[in-house]
Amino acid sequence: MDRFQHYIDGQFEDGSASFDSLDPATGTPWATMPMATAGDVDRAVRAAHRAFVAGPWPALTASARGKLLMRLADLVQAAAPDLARLETRDTGKIIRETSAQIAYVAEYYRYYAGLADKIEGAHLPIDKPDMEVWLRREPVGVVAAIVPWNSQLFLSAVKLGPALAAGCTVVLKASEDGPAPLLAFARLVEQAGFPAGVVNILTGGPEAGVALTTHPKVAHIAFTGGPETARHIVRGSAENLAKVSLELGGKSPFIVFEDADLDSAANAQVSGIFAATGQSCVAGSRLLVQRSVKDAFLARLKAKAEAVAIGAPDRMETEVGPLCTARQRDRIAALIAQSLAAGAKLVTGGQAPEGAGFYFPPTILDCSEVPDAPALQQEFFGPVLSVVTFDTEEQALALANDTAFGLASGVFTRSLTRAHRMIRRIRAGVVWVNTYRAVSPIAPFGGHGLSGHGREGGMAAALDYTAVKTVWLRTSDDPIPDPFVMR
Ligand code: NAD
Repeated sequence: MDRFQHYIDGQFEDGSASFDSLDPATGTPWATMPMATAGDVDRAVRAAHRAFVAGPWPALTASARGKLLMRLADLVQAAAPDLARLETRDTGKIIRETSAQIAYVAEYYRYYAGLADKIEGAHLPIDKPDMEVWLRREPVGVVAAIVPWNSQLFLSAVKLGPALAAGCTVVLKASEDGPAPLLAFARLVEQAGFPAGVVNILTGGPEAGVALTTHPKVAHIAFTGGPETARHIVRGSAENLAKVSLELGGKSPFIVFEDADLDSAANAQVSGIFAATGQSCVAGSRLLVQRSVKDAFLARLKAKAEAVAIGAPDRMETEVGPLCTARQRDRIAALIAQSLAAGAKLVTGGQAPEGAGFYFPPTILDCSEVPDAPALQQEFFGPVLSVVTFDTEEQALALANDTAFGLASGVFTRSLTRAHRMIRRIRAGVVWVNTYRAVSPIAPFGGHGLSGHGREGGMAAALDYTAVKTVWLRTSDDPIPDPFVMR
C-alpha cells in the first residue's frame, strides 16, 4: 500500500488518524491516507496565521511572490504525468482527462504568478485641500480552501493561485475521496520554496471541514462542493464571520435549436455530460431540444452514448471510467429509479454493470412528458442526461431558467440574433454558445442561486482575496483646528 502524509507548517507528517483509499476501478484499498482531526486542523491554521503575520512571507514583494508561483507552475508542468496517474488511480477519472487537465493547471499558476504584482491600489481625488487619500489592497489573511473529489488539483489551483498572488496564506483541505494528487502536490509547494506555513495541505472529512471553516483565525473560506455542505459552512461562518465564496453544483441547460449544427452539438453534449463520467459541476445535464429536431438529435446522442469506450481509467483509449465512490454510483441509481417511477423514459443506459469497480454507463432519460421529474431538478453528478422538449424560444428560456441552480449553460444555434437574446436572458454564471466546457485562467467562473456566489479565475478572483485599506495623510503643518468638528 502507498502511504501519503499531511503537509503542515513545512513538515510532512502522518495524520492523528488514517484511512484506506479505494481504487474506484477495482473497489480495493491501494493507499493509506492521513485523516485530519480538529487538532491537526488547528495546528495547520495556527501555522498559516504565523506565516501570515511574521516570518519571510509578509515581507516578500509581490514580484517575489509571483516568482514563487511561477516556479510552482513549472514544477506542476513537469510533474503533470505523475500527478495525472495518481489522480486517475485515486478518483477513477480517466487518464486522458487528468493528463490534459493537470498540464493546464500549470497555466493557472502561471497566470496568477504574472498577476501578483499587478494588484494595484488607487489614489483618490479627495474633496479636502490638505489631505492625501489612497487605497492599499492588502491580503485578507488565512484562507480555508476546501475542494470535492473531482479535479482536486484544478479546483485548488483556482483558489491557491489568486490567494497566494494576493499575499494570503492557505490551509487546503483535500476531499477524503481521492486526496492522493493534492497530498503529492504538497511536495511541489515545498520544492518551489514557499516559506513554512504559507501553504498547508491536509485531508479529512466533515470533522476537519468544520474545524477549518469555524476556526477563529480563518478570514476567508473558499469552498467548492455541494449546496448542503455549503449551508453548513455558511452557518458555521457565523462563528468567525469569515468571508465565504461558494462554487457549488448545477443543473445546467444545454439548449439545441433546430438551426444548430446537430453533429457538432451532439459532440459538445457528449463532452458536456459524459466527460469526467459526468462528475463535473458544469455538466450540461439538462438537454432542452427543439421538438422538430428531437428525434434526429437523440438518435445521434444514443449512438454516441452506446459507442463510448467504458473501461479501466488508466488506459488511454477509455472514454468513461468508474465513478469515484460506490456511494455516488448508488445515489445515481436511486435517482434514476425515482425518475423512471415518475414517468421518465429510459433511452439508453440506466443500470450499473455487474463486477468490480464503481462503473455506471452513459444514461439518457427522456423526461419530455414529465416536466416535474426529479431528474430535471436534482444534480446527479454522474453520466446521466435528462431530456426535455420545447417549441419556441420563450419556452426554451423558461425551461432553462426553471432551476434553483445557475452555474453554466450552452446554446446551440446558427442565428446570431437569437444567440444574443439567449445570452442576455439566461440566468447562469457562464453561457457557452456553440461550444461547451471551455475554461481558462483568464475567464471568471461561478454561479447564482444554489450554484453559489463569488467568481474564480481572472483578476476578480485575486481581488476577492484582498481587503481595501484606506489611508488618510494630512499634508498641513498647521495645528488641527476645532476638535469637535468632523472634517
Ligand atoms: P461535498 O459538499 O460533499 O464535499 C466537498 C468537500 O466538503 C469535501 O472536501 C468534504 O470533506 C467537505 N465537507 C464535508 N462536510 C463538511 C462540513 N460540514 N464543513 C466543511 N467541509 C465539509 O461535495 P462532493 O459531493 O464531494 O462534491 C460534489 C459537489 O461539488 C457537486 O455538487 C458538484 O457540483 C460540486 N462541484 C462544484 C464545482 C464548481 O466549481 N462550481 C466544481 C466541482 C464540483
